[in-house]
Amino acid sequence: MKITAHTRMVGIIGYPVRHSLSPVMHNAEFARLGLDYVYVAWEVHPGEIPEAVKGLRVLGAVGFNVTVPHKQAVVAELDELSEEAKAIGAVNTVRFENGRAVGYNTDASGWREDIERTISLAGEKICIIGAGGAARAVAVGACQAGAAALVICNRRFETAETLGELLRHYFPSVEVTWSGLCGDHCRELVRSCHIIVNATPVGMTGKGGCPIPSDWLLPGQFVYDTIYTPAETQFLAEAKARGCRVQNGLGMLVRQGAKAFELWTGVKPDPDAMEREVRAFL
Ligand code: NAP
Repeated sequence: MKITAHTRMVGIIGYPVRHSLSPVMHNAEFARLGLDYVYVAWEVHPGEIPEAVKGLRVLGAVGFNVTVPHKQAVVAELDELSEEAKAIGAVNTVRFENGRAVGYNTDASGWREDIERTISLAGEKICIIGAGGAARAVAVGACQAGAAALVICNRRFETAETLGELLRHYFPSVEVTWSGLCGDHCRELVRSCHIIVNATPVGMTGKGGCPIPSDWLLPGQFVYDTIYTPAETQFLAEAKARGCRVQNGLGMLVRQGAKAFELWTGVKPDPDAMEREVRAFL
């Protein structure tokens, strides 16, 4: 890949951001497809999001990804939001369109495409652990895929309630309930679902732990962890030992990235090629 005065620029803002795998998969795919783009990582302090968005616009970036902790805060700096980003209340992809910053959220479709490689979501009852940005995207993806019912379990009850009410508003045909993250009531709710999704950071590299006690799980349940480092979280290992089917979040990362790639370049990338690059890097 040769960078010239014509090379177009995309990237990611986050804080911290040096752990991001997005530059690896995007740059490899630009090179494979012969596209004159470069993807870099910008560490942006939470107090400097307005300056970052303004700067990227002025410098002529095509767009950028947004990661933790900026996905909600960046919304205030944008001119327009896609319907999906509005429903989720968070943006992970921005594209400059005739000077206007337009926010999208590709996490919902990225998750849905990934999990549906293994299991169909239509008619399912799905438990989502967490109620932050990832949980909101998973919830919207599940509703769009025709899930029959959702259960939101979150450490802070009020946040679960806020998400639950939002989902009832946008998707009135889906049965939505919510709970705090402990106690018999939560355990029985988890046991009533066929698919369980961890959308909290509990289990990330260096942290360990499970978002719920694994003895709540039943054999035959499908457990998806949005975390991808480590490839097998403690939660997935314990779920597997209890007879559950399991899947990690690497495919979600790749597929949300593939959607962003297409938004910026107008070219459909190959998510399998992107996934191979990330796996090789890891
Ligand atoms: P976020 O908006 O900060 O939300 C974090 C959620 O996790 C909140 O619901 C929070 O509960 C809960 N939580 C945090 N620490 C907890 C703990 N110790 N015990 C129980 N619950 C806890 O973060 P996010 O953007 O949703 O990201 C969450 C995780 O999703 C990330 O760590 C990442 O691994 C994963 N993710 C993966 C992808 C992918 O492409 N695979 C994409 C996005 C995110 P409270 O409300 O009670 O604080």
